[in-house]
Amino acid sequence: MEKYLSQLNEAQLAPTIQKDGPMIVIAGAGSGKTRVLTYRIAYLMNQGVDSFNILALTFTNKAAREMKERIADIVGNEAKNLWMGTFHSVFAKILRFEGHHLGFPSNFTIYDTQDSQRLMGSIIKEMNLDKDVYKTKQIYSRISSYKNNLITVKAYFKNPELMEADLMARRPKIGEIYKEYVDRCFKAGAMDFDDLLLRTNELLTRFPNVLAQYQDKFRYILVDEYQDTNHSQYLIVRALADRFQNICVVGDDAQSIYAFRGANINNILNFQKDYQDVQMYRLEQNYRSTKNIVGAANSVIEHNKTKLDKVVWTANDEGEKVKIHRSLTDGDEGRYVAGTIWDEKMNKQQHNSDFAVLYRTNAQSRSIEDALRKRDIPYQIYGGLSFYQRKEIKDVTAYLRLILNPADEEALKRIINYPARGIGQTTIDRLMVAANKYGKTIFEILQNLDKVSININNGTKNKLRDFVTLIESYQVMNKTANAFDLAEHVTKSSGLIREFNKDGTPEGITRLDNVQELLNGIKDFVEGQMELADAGDSLAEFLEDVALATDLDSDKGDADHVALMTIHLAKGLEFNNVFIVGLEEDLFPSAMSMNTRSELEEERRLFYVALTRAEKQAYLTYALSRYRWGKLVDSEPSRFIEEIDDAFVENLTPKDERRINPMLSSDIFGDVEPNKIRFKKPKELTFKKKVGTKKEPEKFKISTPKNLKPVSKTSSATNENTNLFDGELRVGSIVKHMRFGKGEVLKIEGAGADVKAEIKFATGGVKKLLLRFAKLEVV
Ligand code: ATP
Ligand code: MG
Repeated sequence: MEKYLSQLNEAQLAPTIQKDGPMIVIAGAGSGKTRVLTYRIAYLMNQGVDSFNILALTFTNKAAREMKERIADIVGNEAKNLWMGTFHSVFAKILRFEGHHLGFPSNFTIYDTQDSQRLMGSIIKEMNLDKDVYKTKQIYSRISSYKNNLITVKAYFKNPELMEADLMARRPKIGEIYKEYVDRCFKAGAMDFDDLLLRTNELLTRFPNVLAQYQDKFRYILVDEYQDTNHSQYLIVRALADRFQNICVVGDDAQSIYAFRGANINNILNFQKDYQDVQMYRLEQNYRSTKNIVGAANSVIEHNKTKLDKVVWTANDEGEKVKIHRSLTDGDEGRYVAGTIWDEKMNKQQHNSDFAVLYRTNAQSRSIEDALRKRDIPYQIYGGLSFYQRKEIKDVTAYLRLILNPADEEALKRIINYPARGIGQTTIDRLMVAANKYGKTIFEILQNLDKVSININNGTKNKLRDFVTLIESYQVMNKTANAFDLAEHVTKSSGLIREFNKDGTPEGITRLDNVQELLNGIKDFVEGQMELADAGDSLAEFLEDVALATDLDSDKGDADHVALMTIHLAKGLEFNNVFIVGLEEDLFPSAMSMNTRSELEEERRLFYVALTRAEKQAYLTYALSRYRWGKLVDSEPSRFIEEIDDAFVENLTPKDERRINPMLSSDIFGDVEPNKIRFKKPKELTFKKKVGTKKEPEKFKISTPKNLKPVSKTSSATNENTNLFDGELRVGSIVKHMRFGKGEVLKIEGAGADVKAEIKFATGGVKKLLLRFAKLEVV
C-alpha cells in the first residue's frame, strides 16, 4: 500500500479508495473528512485518473490551496491541473469561457456585495420608492434568496404566492426592482455573486452541449462541507455528476450553519435519493481535540432534536477541562482574553497563532482588539471590511474594471467624477436617462455625445469628452502594457495619488500605503504570470481574484498573530486554543434567532462548530453587562453554557476583585501610556497565484519607479537569464529563485525566447518557469 494511505484509519481508508460511484461521508467534526477528500484525490490520480478530469469544491479558496499543496506533496506537479476552489471561483472561470452563450462578454465584471447594493439602492431611488420601506439590504437579500432558489424574474412573475407574500409585506414592487436590477447587470456586462451560480445553472440547462462537455471533463467530483450547499449549488453538482456519477461529498449535518443564507440541510439528508447505489460512510474517531472538548461538544449537540445519530469519540488525551469565565463588562472580558493569552504564551511557550478568538457578530471584536493592543499582542481580524472593500482600493480597481469592461456601470459611476472633474450628479442622471432611452451603455453615450440629444451644456460636454479620452488612452495602453505598468500609470495620471496625497492626514497616508500595497500585489501577480508558461490575460485574472477574494484567502498563514473571526468563518479550521466570547442570551444565541426551534438549533450547531475548532483548550466567556448599540445592557449567561455536561467544564472563580485591586494586571494595563501602545500593522496581502507559489511581496515606493524591474508583455528587456542558460544551467543544476528559494532543475525545454525549465523547489513543489523572466541564480 502506498505510504500516504497508511496515514488513514480503516474507516477513512474505505471512502478514500472506493474509486467509482456516488458516495457520501457523514461524520462529526475533526474526524478527517477533509483529509479523506484530499487523499482520495491523490489516490484517484495514482489510479490513473487524469488530473484534468477532477473537480473539487471547497468552502474557501485558501482551503483549496492548502489541499492542493498537500496533494502535490504526494503526487507532484500534476496537482497543478486540478480544478479546485469555491463554487464561485470555479464557475466564474467556466463562465469566462462559456458566458457568451448567455450574452455575456468574457471580460464580464463581478459585482461584489457593495456594488450590488449600490445599484439596488439607486434603482429604488429612481423608482421613487420609500427607502424606509424598501431597505436596500433587505431587498438585496430577498432577491439573493430568489436567485439561490433559481427563481428568475420570469419565474417570479409566474408565481402568485411569491407576489402575494411581497404584497403582504407591503413591498409590492420587489418584482419590478428585481427585473430592473437584472437588466442593468446584464447591460453592464456584470454578474453578482449569486449570478455566478444562477447563470451557471442557466448555462447547463439551456445548452446541453456545454453540459455534456463539462460532464465529460469533470469525471470525478468532490465536495467538502456539503451540508452548507444551497439549492443552486446543489443543482450544479447534480447536473455535472449526472453522467458518470462519480461524486463524493463529505459533510456533517451538525455543522450546517448557513441556512440563514439559503443553505439547505436536506441536500445532505437526501443525497441517497439523488443517486443510485450510494455508498454511505461514517467516521467516528476525532483526531483534533481532547476528550474534554469532544465530550463537551457532544453533550451540547445532544440538545438538538433534528439531527442524524452520530458517534464521535477520541483516543486523544483527557486534556484540560473547558474553562468558563465570567466578567463584569465586555471590557473586562477583553482584558481576560488578552491576559490569558499573555500568560499562556509565557508559561507554555505558545505562539500567537496558537490562539483564536471566535465571536457571534463582528461588532464584538472591538473590546478584544483594544485589550490585545494594550498587551502588544499582534492579531488579525478576518472577515471585517476586507482589503479590497476599502474605498481607495475600490477607486483604483474601478478604473481597471472600466478599462476592461466599459459597460460596467457601477465602476463608471464611481469614478466619472473622482477625482473631481466638475461633472455633477445632474449630468450623471441625464446620462443614465439617455442610456436608457437609446438602449446603450453610459460609456457609449459618452462616446457619442454629438449624436444624442441630451441636455448638457458644452462646457460639461468637454469635460465628459476628456474623461472618455482618458479611459480610451488606458485601453490602448492595456493592449501592450502589463497589468502592473497600467495600474501604476492609472493611479498617477488619473489624479488618484494626488487626491490621496492632498490632505496629509494619517488617513490619507494609510490610503496611499494601501494603494501601494495593491500595486505590490499586482506586480507580484504579473511576475508570477510572466514566469509561468501558461499565463493568461493578467488584468482580467487579477480583477477576478480581487472580486472573489475573501479575507481568509489573503491570509499568508505564516505570520504569527492571534486570529479573530466570526464563528461562521471558522468552519473547517483548527487552533490549539479557542476563546468563544460573548456567550450571553440574546447575543449567542442571537435574539434574532430564537423565535423558532429550527433557528435555535442552528445557533446551537454554530456553538458546536465553535467548540470543535479547539485542539487543546477551549475557553467560554461571558459578561454581566455589555455595551450594545451604545448602551450598557445587562446580560445573562448563554443557555449553551448550561447545556454542557458538568463533567467536562471548570468554572473559574470570577475575578470581580480585579476591578478594585490596582495590583492586578488588568488595571495596570489599563494605564499604559498611549505612546507605548503599538497599533496593529497594516495587513499584509497575498494574492492567489498558480499552484503553491509562496510569495514575499517586496516593498517599493510609488515615487521611485526606478526600483522596479520593468516587466512588459513585449519586453526584450530581461534577457539576462538566457546567458545563464547557455552557460551553466542544465538538468540537475541547483538554482536559487528570488521568491521560491532553492530548487533543482528537472527538465529544460523549448528554444530561443521560450526556453522553459522545470524546477523542483524545496518549498513549493514543481514549477515550469520561462527563463527569459525567471529570476534564477545557479548555486
Ligand atoms: P471539520 O468537520 O471540522 O471540517 P474534518 O472532519 O474535516 O473536520 P480534518 O480537518 O480532516 O477533519 O481532520 C482533523 C484533524 O485531524 C486534522 O488536523 C487532521 O490532520 C487530523 N487527522 C485526521 N485523520 C487523521 C489520522 N488518521 N491520523 C492522524 N491525524 C488525523
Ligand atoms: Mg473539514
